[in-house]
Amino acid sequence: MQTNINTTVLVTGGSGYLGVQCIIGLLEQGYTVKTTVRSLSKKQNVIDSLAAGGITDISGLHFIEADLTADTNWENAVQGCTYVLHVASPFLAVDPEDENEIIIPARDGALRVLKASRDAGVKRLVLTSSFAAIGYSIDPKDHVYTENDWTDPNTPGLRAYIKSKTIAEKAAWDFISREGEGLELTVINPVAIFGPVLAGNYSASVEYVLKGILNGTIRDTPPFTFSVVDVRDTADIHLRAMTHPAAKGERFLASSGESFSFYDAAQLIRNERPEKAGSIADSLQQIDGALYLHLSNEKARSVLGWHPRSAKETLLATVDSLSA
Ligand code: NAP
Repeated sequence: MQTNINTTVLVTGGSGYLGVQCIIGLLEQGYTVKTTVRSLSKKQNVIDSLAAGGITDISGLHFIEADLTADTNWENAVQGCTYVLHVASPFLAVDPEDENEIIIPARDGALRVLKASRDAGVKRLVLTSSFAAIGYSIDPKDHVYTENDWTDPNTPGLRAYIKSKTIAEKAAWDFISREGEGLELTVINPVAIFGPVLAGNYSASVEYVLKGILNGTIRDTPPFTFSVVDVRDTADIHLRAMTHPAAKGERFLASSGESFSFYDAAQLIRNERPEKAGSIADSLQQIDGALYLHLSNEKARSVLGWHPRSAKETLLATVDSLSA
């Protein structure tokens, strides 16, 4: 398919779990793609991940070195782009001692990419935010989360990552309303992303939850649950949001709609992949009063025609790819 070859899209964070899937989707749809990596030494990892995802012709892909913490090369990265998918953001399994180590790159990095995009005449920027910016200030009991909900970054006890995503998304909307000068913004708020791991490329969600369950380092079920979305569906919703006229100025909660406790995930693996369940801790049992999250993905379904996979399919695909 070559119909989009004259349209160039920048994906920031092409070395990441989601960034790679966005590049795959764009190349499959025939776009010309630019991607930023923090270091060009990551280029081969990206190429290996793309190959594992079925992409071998990378003649339409261009790499640029750029870091969210510095101005260097962002002007060059956005040059000639019609769309930007701003996916990159610091995402660590363990919070740093100083929360500003991730808040500042997330917020200032988003502003750098927004300013460069506006100045280069980009039509629309799709920002990868998170459920972190939606669901951490409201009591989950009897609440159905939607795009209307916001995390208050001043909520006591918030993790640095949660704050970083909330503050960065708020800064992006403020920038667009004050000085966007016609640049369109659409935001995607994914819940925990899982799904096939390509060439060993996975992020903190897979590392902390599924690897921890599989290797037995997670020994107890915490009272909270997590909602699941597939990395392939998350890339798909970014691409839909990039061009759909009705997506301008909107945020979309990206979730399969189903929530799991750590015990539920362990049971799924014990039942469906018993050969891989050997190291799961026996102590990982259901607890009384696990708080299941209720989320609506109705807006993404009805506005964008987005139809995500089931959480079960996604979790099993992750397990299969991790041990393949
Ligand atoms: P990931 O694999 O850790 O990818 C993060 C990407 O951001 C990597 O490409 C990383 O580059 C890049 N990055 C981090 N700090 C940077 C900096 N200072 N300058 C430039 N690039 C930087 O995680 P992911 O799951 O794909 O995350 C992608 C996006 O989805 C993030 O915005 C994340 O917050 C969001 N998200 C993820 C989840 C989830 O469960 N995974 C859920 C909701 C939202 P390096 O390879 O050089 O580190």
